[in-house]
Amino acid sequence: MNKNTLIALSVVAAEAVVPLDAKEAASHFTIRELTHSATARRLGIDNTPPPQAVEAMYRLINDVLEPARIQYGSPIYVNSGYRCKALNKAVGGAERSYHLAGRAADLTTGSIEGNRRLYEILCTLPHRELILERGGIWIHVAW
Ligand SMILES: [Zn+2]
Repeated sequence: MNKNTLIALSVVAAEAVVPLDAKEAASHFTIRELTHSATARRLGIDNTPPPQAVEAMYRLINDVLEPARIQYGSPIYVNSGYRCKALNKAVGGAERSYHLAGRAADLTTGSIEGNRRLYEILCTLPHRELILERGGIWIHVAW
């Protein structure tokens, strides 16, 4: 093994241990925000996501939420992101909801006009599901 190979390997090793906080530093969204649930807290449900769901949330953030936030230009709030089975059941989520996989988020800008504008932006970004819920009270987006 020559010196260059050793350097390359240590770079790969360093990448692998980048802490979550550093990965999130450039984004407006965090895994914590996409995992937080007042309902889970109230009912004592452990909504800790498995690694695959964390990876899915990063993809949702990087491909959908962050580009939408940049185009929208103002804060976007996540009402619900990842849901474990127990939490999904508690909030009456669909049995095969993308929230279970960490692939969906319910968003609001705080106003119906803002939500309608955000919806138009999200139409241009990758998604599998995009729903302006109840006339614009919130947006469900799934990648
Ligand atoms: Zn949803």
